[in-house]
Amino acid sequence: MKKIARLAALLFLIGCSTVPITGRKQLSFIPQGELMTLSDQGYKDVLSKATLSTDAASKQKVTDVGQKIATSAETFMKENGMEKDLANYKWEFNLIEDPKTVNAFCMPGGKIVVYTGILPVVQDENGLATVMSHEVAHAIANHGGERMSQELVVQAGGMGLAQLTKSKPALAQQILMQAYGTGTQYAILLPYSRSHESEADHIGLILMARAGYDPKTAVAFWERMSALGGAKPPELLSTHPADSRRVADIQKEIPEAERYYKG
Ligand SMILES: [Zn+2]
Repeated sequence: MKKIARLAALLFLIGCSTVPITGRKQLSFIPQGELMTLSDQGYKDVLSKATLSTDAASKQKVTDVGQKIATSAETFMKENGMEKDLANYKWEFNLIEDPKTVNAFCMPGGKIVVYTGILPVVQDENGLATVMSHEVAHAIANHGGERMSQELVVQAGGMGLAQLTKSKPALAQQILMQAYGTGTQYAILLPYSRSHESEADHIGLILMARAGYDPKTAVAFWERMSALGGAKPPELLSTHPADSRRVADIQKEIPEAERYYKG
């Protein structure tokens, strides 16, 4: 019953928030606490089924560069009065041993995974900073929470939960209950949309520049990624804008990011 009361309360919390750096308004009505609990479970689940890398040097690099970028993001949020948005975040960085997977991902609250398969493409610290900045950007832009909110609206039949709550409260409650069962777990692990990918690229460039990495080096990394295209593109590319367009978009955003780069 406690769960039902909590879900009913949720229906009145429907709202929007603003993405840092880009200023885009996003749909976001999943309370951060709920999102973090789901994300924690999802992350533990992924890690328990994976083989963690035993390459201590690479593991340390992933953690160090990831933490540096996360600190850069926290400073940015504080300077812009948005530190409350990260109140429940707990950054975690793990390297999974899987040479065939050229990928990395991030769950809400700063739970990041890098697969060893991306290390040869990363090549150096700048390449790694590009990947970590992109993932940290997904986290601070709350792309996971937005995707889950969108998912709930889809399940409400495009009606919008606010409207549905007024006209059919029982159905609205049922949809939320379902979503809170398995749906949200699933949504946390779904690939990001193309627009989320582009936004993470943009925010990531600024985060890496602020952390002391030359944002121009991101272009070289994405060029190496797109060179891998071929018959079976790596997952990090499969949900992304066309490779050439992506590199072109990033190139256009370099001058903005360079204003934050002190070299
Ligand atoms: Zn991404």
